[in-house]
Amino acid sequence: MTALTVLNARVLTMTGGGPRRGAAMRDVGVIERGFVQCEGERIVRVGAGAPEHVQGDVIDAAGRVCMPALVDAHAHLCWGGDRWSEWEQVRAGVPYSDILAAGGGILSTVRATRAASEMELAAGVRERLHAMARLGIGATEAKSGYGLEPASESRMLQAIEMAASDSPITVRRTFLGGHAIPPEDAAWPERLVREVIPEFARRFPDAAVDAFCEKNAFSVEQARAVLRAARAAGVPARLHTDQFNDLGGAAMAIEEGARTVDHLEASSQATIARVGAGAAIAVLLPCSGYALDGRYAPGRALIDAGAAVALGSNCNPGSAPTVDLRFAMHLAVRHCGLSCHEALVAATANAAHALGLGDQMGSIAPGMRANLIVLGERDERSLVHGFGGPAPAHVVLGGRVLA
Ligand SMILES: [Zn+2]
Repeated sequence: MTALTVLNARVLTMTGGGPRRGAAMRDVGVIERGFVQCEGERIVRVGAGAPEHVQGDVIDAAGRVCMPALVDAHAHLCWGGDRWSEWEQVRAGVPYSDILAAGGGILSTVRATRAASEMELAAGVRERLHAMARLGIGATEAKSGYGLEPASESRMLQAIEMAASDSPITVRRTFLGGHAIPPEDAAWPERLVREVIPEFARRFPDAAVDAFCEKNAFSVEQARAVLRAARAAGVPARLHTDQFNDLGGAAMAIEEGARTVDHLEASSQATIARVGAGAAIAVLLPCSGYALDGRYAPGRALIDAGAAVALGSNCNPGSAPTVDLRFAMHLAVRHCGLSCHEALVAATANAAHALGLGDQMGSIAPGMRANLIVLGERDERSLVHGFGGPAPAHVVLGGRVLA
């Protein structure tokens, strides 16, 4: 069995039962000078000072920060084609409605994804996972949602599984059949609820279910039916909601017991209070605000209202073309009002809880998966402050040192 000890580290444990809410999000659980020991894929000992015995590999952190590997709470990761020409058109001033009318936007990704083989889709996911691991990301979500008919959605979920099987990153799949209503199939929302979700919950019992509640996508009542179908099938539910309009989707999702409410850029004061008092984790996706329109979720108000906030890259080919969760952390401080420590908790412990992985990763304690990063600095705020900056000095996933 492999063994690894990180010595002389400023250890951020992030431990604390369930997701951290409100003021508890400021506590990263510091051990000023301590150690972390791993055996095989697990952490076995954590403490202050030096360990009694050291065997196997040693990383001397020399006072630098050792913290849990990052967790991306919301990422798409699987698609065919690209949107680079469309981005240039948008930048040149072509209205998005014209691009959509010409079959662009999400519809072009749906066409390219339907035309792609499982191998081609898996190759794309594999590349993105590889890049994420080097950035110190130890777990991520990967959504379907560009097929919008059963065979293509199923191919996406299988491609994600194929890519995940040889990656050191833990991948949680999400069936995003409610991403949009395909123009050729106005009855898709009803069919999704009646036939497809029950069938997919049997075939992919590990996958959460997700939808996009917005004007011209799923209405509040259509999204409610999706969440109820997920619950009836025994799988967790999430909801993209309040991105452009607060239609009441977040409040509805909390009522229906969704695990997360994602986006929230347009949430009203009443919705913020509701999210603060509810059990669902608020997943913020500031890379979309950066890429699209400069609108960001009210992270400060959500945390002050008592919410558990998590962060995701939202990696997708249109509105968040990045796998760099560190950039989302930077933007969360710059534009959502989080402190650096809150952003660190949001991208580790709370993100792990958003994926149902909080008892396995996102914090440093005996029994947790040995997913660690050692930074090049003695102050963890460096990871949040420096966008596009260097990768962590060391990345350890499942007890193995990657870099
Ligand atoms: Zn998304």
